[in-house]
Amino acid sequence: MNDCLFCKIIAGEIPSTKIYEDDKVFVFADINPIAPIHWLVIPKQHIAKITDVNEDNSAVISHIYEVIAKLAAEHDEFKDGFRVISNCGENAGQTVFHIHFHVLAGAKFGWSVD
Ligand code: AMP
Ligand code: ZN
Repeated sequence: MNDCLFCKIIAGEIPSTKIYEDDKVFVFADINPIAPIHWLVIPKQHIAKITDVNEDNSAVISHIYEVIAKLAAEHDEFKDGFRVISNCGENAGQTVFHIHFHVLAGAKFGWSVD
């Protein structure tokens, strides 16, 4: 996946502000934050979108939620709640086709589909 932006970030070919990394997952700050904390959690394995998750690759998705729980426990901004979003496809506004989980914290959020 040589032309994938997030694969290039994982490989260090494009700089990012790294928050966390292990053998399966990379977490970095969104370049255009919409909350005091706006991180992107991505699998190191290239999966384009939610509809490409299947029984062969889904273990990394549960691992991603384990990582989110660990990061939430480690950062005070998460103690009163936070939000996880994964956009899939055009109607949801997905712009990068390497599956990712936006983690938003540090504010009280409204709820809208706009
Ligand atoms: P989505 O619209 O759900 O596909 O989210 C893609 C996200 O990637 C957006 O929130 C962008 O701000 C973010 N993004 C794009 N390029 C970069 C980059 N080079 N470093 C960090 N975040 C990025
Ligand atoms: Zn990729």
